[in-house]
Amino acid sequence: MSKLFKRTKILATIGPATNSAEKIEEVIMAGVNGCRLNCSHGSNEERDQQIKWIRAAAEKKGRSVAILQDLQGPKIRLGMIKDNRLDLVKGDELILEADENFEHDGGMTVPVQYNLAGKVKVGEPLALFDGKIKAEITEIVSSTAIKITILNDGFIMSKKGLNLPDTDFGGDILTAKDLADIEYGVNCDYDYVALSFVQTAGDIAKLKQLLLSYGSTAKVIAKIETKKAIESDENLEEIVKEADGIMIARGDMAVEAGAEVVPIIQRKLIALCRANSKLCIVATQMLSSMVESPEPTRAEVSDVATAVVQGADVVMLSDETANGKYPVETVKAMKKVILYTQNHSKIAPITHAPIGAYAVYDAISGAAARLAEKIDADVIICQTATGVTTMSIAAQRPNKPIISVTANPRVANQLALVYANAAFVRPYSEEYGVELAEELKASGYLRTRDGEKDLMTVIVSGKKDTIGGTDTIKVRRI
Ligand code: ATP
Ligand code: MG
Ligand code: MG
Repeated sequence: MSKLFKRTKILATIGPATNSAEKIEEVIMAGVNGCRLNCSHGSNEERDQQIKWIRAAAEKKGRSVAILQDLQGPKIRLGMIKDNRLDLVKGDELILEADENFEHDGGMTVPVQYNLAGKVKVGEPLALFDGKIKAEITEIVSSTAIKITILNDGFIMSKKGLNLPDTDFGGDILTAKDLADIEYGVNCDYDYVALSFVQTAGDIAKLKQLLLSYGSTAKVIAKIETKKAIESDENLEEIVKEADGIMIARGDMAVEAGAEVVPIIQRKLIALCRANSKLCIVATQMLSSMVESPEPTRAEVSDVATAVVQGADVVMLSDETANGKYPVETVKAMKKVILYTQNHSKIAPITHAPIGAYAVYDAISGAAARLAEKIDADVIICQTATGVTTMSIAAQRPNKPIISVTANPRVANQLALVYANAAFVRPYSEEYGVELAEELKASGYLRTRDGEKDLMTVIVSGKKDTIGGTDTIKVRRI
């Protein structure tokens, strides 16, 4: 059975291409483990509807699916562009107008959501649409408008982002929009909240505090994409430790810091997350040619495979499922690469001692993972109240599937994104791991190997409702 089990999980962005009950069900059936709803686009009403569709599809599949709310952060975006497209050629002069009453009529003045006139200087570089268009600021036209000169051919679309790598904005990164989205989101069924353009661990601490004050049980993901976040290894490590997980947001990172830094930061961050038992998501352009084409490129396949070999928990789809022509095909293609790669290449175990917040329990988890390898168990079963035990076993990247059982549906949804894990919700009992394994064996979900009557299991458990309280490892034939 372990050959069929997808260890690296898929997070798919929901957008116009997947905005129906049918499409959402199709992508979930095709292998999506989590859905990302981006607050930068669409409306609260749309997201409420999408959450209902996702929960219904997950129920139908009988598997937990995580829902992630993505907060825009201090990202500057264009407003609405007439017919959602404006073609540009090198040498064009484009005016960015921040006046709220301005509406684009198809001409060379376009709306922007932030007044740049007082912030930028003539001569500074500016990039649009994930860096697809490069430009230079050539004039401050009025108190609300600036003029830029376009340096290459291409086009822009509604709400695409602007990057100003040399402009200093300073200040708090949670915008008024983010605060409103958080307040609204705490009453929605989100499992994770991600914050864009994180600069320091303090940004994450603030978000956590805010969520806590609203009584939210969502976990927090730091999107790593600013120059500031990656400027030192210490800063990166502090962010990883403060957050529950990180997203390597390669699109804006490449524009802000240079594309060449991205692969190295990716390696560093995956390793840091594993060492700290944190969730790690690799995002942006993984299969981007599939926005237009039913087949991925060789380079894209290689990119997904690399993330799998490096041990990412999650690979993410953005435009491919939000905006692309082939959302379901993209998920299937991604799943195929993940399965082939995991079945033909082992992930190197972490060799140093775990350094998580619960060091003793992490050591126990490490022992459980090694034990499972040594006795060649079919499955590791994890009884978990909070998910911490599963996270810490998964951080070892055992070459075995992990089945988690918890009484808490929120925890199961959150675990849907964790490496090598499938989570099930069952009422708590001291032996609910064994009971679940028996049930899954009877249903055929867990299969014994050819010629074997029993499943060989390693069962990890702890005291009820104690965070990180893992203290027992059992080996059971089931
Ligand atoms: P981020 O930097 O947060 O990734 P993004 O603009 O790249 O922001 P994605 O969530 O990656 O946005 O989605 C990719 C594209 O799909 C968007 O730029 C947008 O064109 C489209 N899109 C996504 N969600 C929606 C939505 N709810 N409504 C309309 N278009 C959407
Ligand atoms: Mg981004
Ligand atoms: Mg994106």
